[in-house]
Order: sequence, then structure tokens, then C-alpha cells
Amino acid sequence: MNSLRVGVVGGSIGGLTAAVLLHEMGCDVEVFERSGAALQGRGAGIVVLPMTERYFTELGTSLGAGGGTAREVALTLTYWSYIDRDGTIVDEAATHNRFTSWNTLYRALLERLPPERYHLGYRATGVAPSAESATVEFAGGGTRSFNLVVGADGIGSTVREEVAPGTPTTYAGYVAWRGTVLERDLSPGTAEIFADAMVYQVLERSHILVYAIPGPGDSVRAGERALNFVWYRNVASEAYDDLMTDREGVPRPGTMPPGLVQDRFVEALHADAYAQLAPQLAELVLACGEPFIQAIFDMSAPRFRRGRAILIGDAAAALRPHVAAGTAKACADGWALRDFLAGAVDLDGALAGWEAQQLALAGRIAAKSRAMGEASQTAGTMVPGDPDWRFGLFGPGN
Ligand SMILES: Cc1cc2nc3c(=O)[nH]c(=O)nc-3n(C[C@H](O)[C@H](O)[C@H](O)COP(=O)(O)OP(=O)(O)OC[C@H]3O[C@@H](n4cnc5c(N)ncnc54)[C@H](O)[C@@H]3O)c2cc1C
Repeated sequence: MNSLRVGVVGGSIGGLTAAVLLHEMGCDVEVFERSGAALQGRGAGIVVLPMTERYFTELGTSLGAGGGTAREVALTLTYWSYIDRDGTIVDEAATHNRFTSWNTLYRALLERLPPERYHLGYRATGVAPSAESATVEFAGGGTRSFNLVVGADGIGSTVREEVAPGTPTTYAGYVAWRGTVLERDLSPGTAEIFADAMVYQVLERSHILVYAIPGPGDSVRAGERALNFVWYRNVASEAYDDLMTDREGVPRPGTMPPGLVQDRFVEALHADAYAQLAPQLAELVLACGEPFIQAIFDMSAPRFRRGRAILIGDAAAALRPHVAAGTAKACADGWALRDFLAGAVDLDGALAGWEAQQLALAGRIAAKSRAMGEASQTAGTMVPGDPDWRFGLFGPGN
């Protein structure tokens, strides 16, 4: 399988992980990313699970140690704390979660792929899989054929339209308001509670969490970090289109970028922060000038493979964020692909084995993430300190 020609559609974390692993295995890999410029994170943090940084761990280096400079760009928080409306800690456990920024992970992976194999400005418009190959069509009219096409093109996947047509993407009834504030811009008393803890507050059919991520220049030093908040808030379907229309009147389905949320919605967020949140959390949310919004959707394709085209990461199944495992799952799909292909003599048999294993993983973790979201946002049964809320792809912390 080592001489396979592989085309990867989508050059984010999932596509890059698969591409780097298959390239290092000896495959002839090319990545096609629709964005015309190197990707930029949405200024937010991600939780680092073992699978997220497995590539760097196996290299014997740390995440972001590119260019020969060993530099720590992920940070560890010792505690997992729940506070109440008064700002008093009501539950605390030692969990040792690691966090980094999306940009850091993206750049670290991109450095591992020869630049001539990563093509920006290539938007796939379709894929035609057959028993022996798959052909990708691009906007502008070009086509390219490969032994295997990996669809890593996210929740709105074009490749999925061919592999699993008609897969529904369903709005979950709530959105995540997100934003970051520099640690040094908070009062010392407030900054202190976030210094070594990921902090949650459970609200009426809602919850908010805050954790530190690397600050400007990827600094992980105390005082130079950023604090990232995620506040899950129910938004009825009838009100959704209005919320997700930007200040210029442009619809932004799915994600409303920083700086574009209509003022009246930011004002409502601030009023609710003042009325409902612990003082430390309210100060943080009020200090964030440009919050942004990510809507929560359920989408799990019933199959990940048709002929020689497959789906990985968010293109295959998008998880609700409560398990903090979307990135880890995208990486896991790439690792499993490498493991099934390495040494295989029958490509289709290897892909069938890969599909069965990754479908089972996605099904399990998607169901868990949905149950968590429903406990918080619908049933209102989320309780501070519930160990089931620990992050993980295969199990808590893993
Ligand atoms: C720019 C960006 C910033 C992000 N920032 C964060 C963050 O700060 N925190 C966080 O928790 N998660 C973030 N995510 C989401 C997170 O990376 C993913 O949910 C998860 O890692 C799964 O990754 P994925 O590679 O499967 O899908 P995605 O990360 O969604 O990547 C899909 C990629 O495919 C490309 N693409 C889509 N359609 C086509 C097409 N037709 N042709 C070619 N390319 C196409 C997209 O431009 C994108 O780069 C971000 C994603 C992106 C794209």
C-alpha cells in the first residue's frame, strides 16, 4: 500500500494528520484546501487528548517543537472546579487536562508535510469514486484522480454528498458563545481562580466553562496566557437565523466570526452574564469585546466509504463539543487509516476494516456527546462534579 496515490480534500487538523502519516508511510499524498491562505484558528482553544498529540508524542518531541526548537505550547491545568452564582467553589477534582490553541496544533502539523504537497485555493466540487480509483473535481474545472480520496472537508463536506448522500445535519437547539480575554486584562482576584483550574458554572438549562490557553506568541507562562470561555445557550430555531445574521445583514450559518455579532445580541449576552454568572465569570465575559458564536449540530454519516472515497473527522461525524474530542477523533481516524493500510495487501479489505472500526467509535462518542448536551440544555440534569463530564474520546481523559 506504500505507493498509493492519495488525495486529501480539506487541509485542517484531520486532513493534515492523515496526510502526514500516509506521507511518512511512503504514500504519494496531496492535500487540497479550499482556503486561499494558510488557515487561522478562530482564536479559541482546544483540549489536548492523547490522540490529539500522539503524532508529536511518538516523535519523542512536544507539540509545537518544530524547527528544532523544543518549545512547550500546551499547558496543563490541575483542577476541574465548579463554582456557584456567588463564585464559591462547590466541587473540585484533580484532572490534569492539557490545552493548546488551534493555531498551534495546525502549524505544528503543517510543518511536517513538504509544502509542495499542500495546495491552497483548491475547492473540491465533487468526487467520483469507482472500484479502482476516485476522481476529484475542483472549482474552475480541473480534475485529479487518485487510488484513494480522503474527505476531510468538515461538517459541510462535499465528499460526503457522494459517500453518504442525504445525511442530515440537525441543529441541536443551542449555540456556544465563545471568546478569549488576556489573563492580564482581568483583576488579580478574578484571574486567580482560573490560574490552575478549568472552571464551570451550571446554569438553568445551560452551562459555561473557562480554561486558559496559550496567549500571544504561544506563551504558556502565567500572566501571559489567554482565557477562553464557552457558554452554551439555548436558541429556538425561530430565533436562530436572526442571531446568525451578521451586523451587515449577511447570513453566517454555523459560525459567526468575532466582531460580526450584532450589537443587540452582545448586549443581551452581557446583561445575562451580569444577571446569571459568578462574578469571576461575568467579569471575563464582559471583558471580551468580540465574542463569536458556533452553533451546535448533530451529524453522523451512516457510512464512511464508497469505493475509493472515504470520510474522516468532522466530515464523517461531528460531535457536540462537550466531550472535547472532535480534534482527537479527527486524528484517530487518520491513525487508524495508517494502521489498516500499513502492510495490507488488499486495499478494499483494509478500508472495510477501517470503516467498521471508526463507525463504531464515532457512534459511541457521538451518542455520549448528545446525551451530555441534552442533560445540560434540555433535561436540566447536569450536576456539578459529575465524573461523566470529564473530557475524552475513548474514556475519561483518554
Ligand atoms: C479555520 C478553522 C479554525 C478552527 N478553530 C477551532 C478552534 O479554535 N477551536 C476548536 O475547538 N476547534 C476549531 N476548529 C474545528 C476543529 O479543528 C475541528 O472540528 C476538528 O479538529 C475536526 O477537524 P476536521 O479536519 O475533520 O474538520 P475541519 O477542521 O472542519 O476542517 C475542514 C477543512 O476542509 C476545508 N474544506 C471544506 N470544504 C472543502 C472543499 N470543498 N474543498 C477543499 N477544502 C474544503 C475547510 O476549509 C477546512 O479547512 C477549527 C476549524 C477550522 C477549519
